Amino acid sequence: MVKSEMSRRTVLAGAAIVGTALPAPRALSAPERVGAAADRSADVIVIGAGLAGLSAARHLKAHGASVIVLEARDRAGGRVHSQRLRSGQVIDLGAQFLGDAQTHVSALVDEAGLRRVSAAVPGDLLYFPAEDAAPQRGAPDAFPLPVIDRLDAFQALWRLERSVALLSGEDIARLDRIDAASFVRDKTFLDPAFHAIGGYLEGEICTPLAGVSAYEALEQGASIGGFESEGTSMRWFLADGAEGMTRYLAHAVGGSLILNAPVSRVAQDAGNVVVTAATGVYRADRVIVAVPPQFYRKIGVLHELPAHWQAALGGWRLGSVVKTMLVFQEPWWRRSGLSGTIVNPGGMFGAAVDASPETGPGILIVFSTARGAQALGRFPDEKARVAEAMRWLSHAHSAGVPDLLYARSIDWSADPFSLGGYSSRRGIGGWSAAPDLFAPHGRLHFAGTETANRWRSFMDGAIQSGLRAAGEILGTSPIPSGLLSGVER
Ligand SMILES: Cc1cc2nc3c(=O)[nH]c(=O)nc-3n(C[C@H](O)[C@H](O)[C@H](O)COP(=O)(O)OP(=O)(O)OC[C@H]3O[C@@H](n4cnc5c(N)ncnc54)[C@H](O)[C@@H]3O)c2cc1C
Repeated sequence: MVKSEMSRRTVLAGAAIVGTALPAPRALSAPERVGAAADRSADVIVIGAGLAGLSAARHLKAHGASVIVLEARDRAGGRVHSQRLRSGQVIDLGAQFLGDAQTHVSALVDEAGLRRVSAAVPGDLLYFPAEDAAPQRGAPDAFPLPVIDRLDAFQALWRLERSVALLSGEDIARLDRIDAASFVRDKTFLDPAFHAIGGYLEGEICTPLAGVSAYEALEQGASIGGFESEGTSMRWFLADGAEGMTRYLAHAVGGSLILNAPVSRVAQDAGNVVVTAATGVYRADRVIVAVPPQFYRKIGVLHELPAHWQAALGGWRLGSVVKTMLVFQEPWWRRSGLSGTIVNPGGMFGAAVDASPETGPGILIVFSTARGAQALGRFPDEKARVAEAMRWLSHAHSAGVPDLLYARSIDWSADPFSLGGYSSRRGIGGWSAAPDLFAPHGRLHFAGTETANRWRSFMDGAIQSGLRAAGEILGTSPIPSGLLSGVER
């Protein structure tokens, strides 16, 4: 029942039901078979059991290599993590959406027999032209700005896409010195367009634009085939959660996967690589490092890497994302012809989308990224974040917001084995310092979405990177590593 206005009771009630209205959340990721402690040597050790590490391990095993996967957490999946509600539906606390152009993740979904749900919901969207402005209603493909600002935004988008299309390795020196915020400012004439385009880009990059270079931003666009393709990446979500994919891969990897095994040291010697984890010391001919680059220091591998790589890694920028999931009795916004989408570029809550199952509750996903995520992360706890999200939602829907059934709000920066999301990034000058970053180095190979040539920062990029690293070892990699996506295509 939609109330005429959201009461303080609703906010507090919303806060009170974070994680408590339902029985203790059932983790979907009960460990698969865990590797025998006696297995101390293998052809390949994979560090990290996210989509990248698991994809690499499965590929290697399928080609006859012996593999040990060392994972710090008590579950596989990394930034993919799902939770089942009492009603039977599953919510994704991390990665969720995929598109048909993402061939690696699509193939995995098909192979694992996972059911897709369309993320397309008909109806109007709500748009905040400025942080404190009243939201405006518009058609799904509308850019509800005054005509002059809309023209400015369109010409800026066109120039941005053109820069992506023309990107080449020769641009590194020039564009890697300019921060992305100044670059976007240069492409726009008026504040509203800068606010809209900058906010959109920051939402994609998950890092304040002032901290990354124009090259990093454009290269991200190139890795997905142009920023326009980004829309295609949210075509589907999975009825039983994205974690179905990592569970499927973990099952295939089977006894090679060792959980609760944080790695603290990696050292190459003449004959092999020695990896020290909490569970013991392991040896292998090759190692695939499949943790995000911000952990290279913590896993003790930095000392093995060339000085110019260390320089690039020194300026590494963490991505910030808080994902808030609001579960209602039904998708009530649809009754008034709304799709559930709210666009609020640069705001603490940058966007909301409807991810309701075909039947059952109404689920709104609210994304806070970059500066927005950092601001929300300063709230004392998950309950306070949910209450703030409900306040924002009731501002967007002035006719009222019904009571919540359940909610979660996950700050991925607070996760010690992720330190953020969607992905981390090279800082300004990071491409110039080490264009060859992530190429094989001695017996070390590098995987993870941050190392991908295509769909970098997405699940698809993670899988691609794992297959590429495995292929480097098997001598079958069709994708040379260390190449820039903008150059390679
Ligand atoms: C909130 C959020 C929403 C997202 N939404 C989407 C989406 O809708 N669609 C999409 O395509 N992508 C999305 N992403 C991005 C996607 O989750 C990632 O691109 C992908 O999951 C990364 O996989 P990975 O294997 O590269 O890294 P990870 O999943 O981070 O795996 C790395 C693994 O290394 C482990 N590790 C860390 N330190 C150690 C150590 N010392 N020793 C051993 N192991 C260690 C970690 O525990 C982890 O399991 C989202 C991400 C977040 C956070």
